Amino acid sequence: MSEHDKVNLLNLDQAGLQAFFAEQGEKAFRATQVMKWIYQFGVEEFGAMTNLAKGLREKLDQVAEIRPPQVVSEQRSEDGTVKWLLQIDNGNCIETVFIPEDHRGTLCVSSQVGCALDCTFCSTAQQGFNRNLSTAEIIGQLWVANQRLHAIPRQQRTISNVVLMGMGEPLLNFDNVVRAMNIMMEDNAYGLSKRRVTLSTSGVIPALDRLKQVSDVSLAVSLHAPNDELRDQLVPINRKYPIKELMAACQRYIADDSRRKITFEYVMLAGINDSEEHARQLIKLLRQIPSKINLIPFNPFPGTDYRCSDAATINRFRDILMEAGLMTVTRKTRGEDIDAACGQLAGKVEDKTKRKLRRASESMPINRVGT
Ligand code: SAH
Repeated sequence: MSEHDKVNLLNLDQAGLQAFFAEQGEKAFRATQVMKWIYQFGVEEFGAMTNLAKGLREKLDQVAEIRPPQVVSEQRSEDGTVKWLLQIDNGNCIETVFIPEDHRGTLCVSSQVGCALDCTFCSTAQQGFNRNLSTAEIIGQLWVANQRLHAIPRQQRTISNVVLMGMGEPLLNFDNVVRAMNIMMEDNAYGLSKRRVTLSTSGVIPALDRLKQVSDVSLAVSLHAPNDELRDQLVPINRKYPIKELMAACQRYIADDSRRKITFEYVMLAGINDSEEHARQLIKLLRQIPSKINLIPFNPFPGTDYRCSDAATINRFRDILMEAGLMTVTRKTRGEDIDAACGQLAGKVEDKTKRKLRRASESMPINRVGT
């Protein structure tokens, strides 16, 4: 059996591991043991799994492997934020970011290599799209971060929260994302509660309804505009799934649990979506639904024409929402000095959509005028 035929156990959640061991003629409880070794003790050699019989360890060596992504570089921000560039195959790299705060540590995880959506204010979108990440490549980001942060096997939860807010649209990589989130929440693996795992989506409605059937993670929605006309421009998937339908899907997602809220993300773009009128439209929209609003100061990246709203405008916008009774916080920008802030993750994407080429030709006349 060649290396490539080996089963990477990072691709399997608890049910998958049980099925794997059943195929090997082993008892189901082996899944629990191996899961603890991999995730709670950070072990990647079967030889180190001392409560497995030697024969089983040797057999596992033949048929299976524990293969996380490779760390290409690690950058530390002045504010303690850490960004890793991870190699996942010959042509592609993704980024993962750890954000320490006083009472929690959040890992921001990527779900795709690049992104197929084309949000105009996001740097990942400029990279184009290559492929979905496997479950192993998603959960592997936690595995690697835990190792690098020396968080394993300590009891203390250095990574207390995970947000699927890195590169990619998680709901367009449904099965692998759900499986990875299962491992995050599985007691024998990372044991995070559903309140501490948040999936962020630009609003892929059919997938959102499917998610409700199989998972109960917390939900964040990238809204960014209070009306369809503007959202059609900023978040083009809105043309397919407009705001009214998105709001109805959000209602459905939290319908069974009166304590749940949806987080709405709203990037603050100077002169685009930050007027008092926009705030009032937002109030009308979100009054209907249990929500929290996260205002995100726009993070610039090379080639963008957008600018961030100034602090006074952001505060005013927040105050209007708060006065109307909407719970609103301005997200602190973290890791800006290492390009680790929201919308700045770029990785290294072999673009299959040819978007980069298209963009270059579109912008050519402008360049000529400039030179
Ligand atoms: N595709 C998913 C996951 C990405 S989450 C989604 O759209 O929700 C990343 C968050 O950062 C999203 O809310 C995204 O809209 C926001 N974002 C993108 N570019 C940004 C930028 N340049 N500045 C600030 N926030 C940005």
